[in-house]
Amino acid sequence: MSVFDRVESNVRSYCRSWPVVFTTANGSTIRDRAGNEYLDFFAGAGALNYGHNHPVLKDALLEYVASDSVTHSLDMHTAAKEAFLETLSSVILEPRRLDYKVMFPGPTGTNAVEAALKLARKVTGREHIVSFTNAFHGMTLGSLSVTGNSMKRSGAGVPLHFGTSMPYCNYLDEGSSLHVLESLLGNSGSGLDHPAAVIVETVQGEGGINLATATWLRRLAALCRRHDILLILDDIQMGIGRTGPFFSFEAAGIVPDIVTMSKSLSGYGLPLAITMFRSDLDVWEPGEHNGTFRGNNPAFVTATAALDRFWRDDALTTDVMRKGEIVETHLAALAGTSASPHADERGRGLIWGLSFADGGTASKVCAEAFDHGLLVETSGPEGEVVKLMPPLTIADDELVRGLGILADATRDVASPDAILATGSTR
Ligand code: PLP
Repeated sequence: MSVFDRVESNVRSYCRSWPVVFTTANGSTIRDRAGNEYLDFFAGAGALNYGHNHPVLKDALLEYVASDSVTHSLDMHTAAKEAFLETLSSVILEPRRLDYKVMFPGPTGTNAVEAALKLARKVTGREHIVSFTNAFHGMTLGSLSVTGNSMKRSGAGVPLHFGTSMPYCNYLDEGSSLHVLESLLGNSGSGLDHPAAVIVETVQGEGGINLATATWLRRLAALCRRHDILLILDDIQMGIGRTGPFFSFEAAGIVPDIVTMSKSLSGYGLPLAITMFRSDLDVWEPGEHNGTFRGNNPAFVTATAALDRFWRDDALTTDVMRKGEIVETHLAALAGTSASPHADERGRGLIWGLSFADGGTASKVCAEAFDHGLLVETSGPEGEVVKLMPPLTIADDELVRGLGILADATRDVASPDAILATGSTR
């Protein structure tokens, strides 16, 4: 029995899909102890958008560590934090005319979400938050209260209060889903308390690769403005170029009141999260929200190097959109030629999903892909969607090779009748 089975909690999960011991990784490849290589279409659940151990980021990190620079600093001023804030301002915020203050909550995504919810409540003096069907915002109690998945919610062990779930863009037809929220807000008999905020993802990654259209997002932003509700955009998984632009909401032309980011912000897999908000919403008292690991300086260093390397021009965005077309072409061919004529593929930039009739089939496809050297995982309420999330920096030949492994795995595992599901995941 391995030490993992003997010692590590039953709660572990990804290691069950990929039961090997990983040792080294570069770019889009990860290796196990036996010397097997895998193409990584999982990319640290979105934390490795620039691939594993990107050399530019690694050099910056090694130099920082080798010079005995400060590693841990709570929220003290450090040269590394100064450089990060200056680069974030000049490379990302100022060119987009985003007047955001930056807050460092704890180092993970759910910390950024908790801070956003707390701030929205403090600013408005209201308690309720509207979220959406199939939303995923993290594992702590506030984030769970705005998360859809019933299995994750039940793990809370206490009632999850002050959240109301509304239909996401594709849950009903696009027009109807916001109409529900709009009509409830406008009706004093609806039973919906006036919310402090709405929290939304532009593409639901964990929820099954459900895409909100630009029109729907614009209508949502306008609705929030009309009803004096803050709009929290959770860009933890879809930000940092995953859908093309740095922020996934840029394409819709909306400006959220509060934005959460984490995952690929450090670019190196080091924990780092920020909550950004309109400067007039900065009503925090000093120390009102703190945490020991807000000053992860090695993460500031790699984040700064990543912003500097990838976001001073549009080259990465253009490349992501181009590679997205390669994925789309391959998935459309797979959906058309394999099992079912009703295959459903959907995505944007380099986030794509292939939806199957049930979670069992999707996980068999992933297991088969793993046996042939591809890391790919499932998402969706029943795990019925195979989620493709390669590093944005993946080489074209690697991308095509991985798509080939996925196609073979699908054809091997899925029976010809109605294996692939139609329509959108709800
Ligand atoms: N929000 C979104 C949209 C996410 O996808 C995730 C994680 O998958 C989180 C929040 C939570 O982030 P973390 O796992 O770092 O707490």
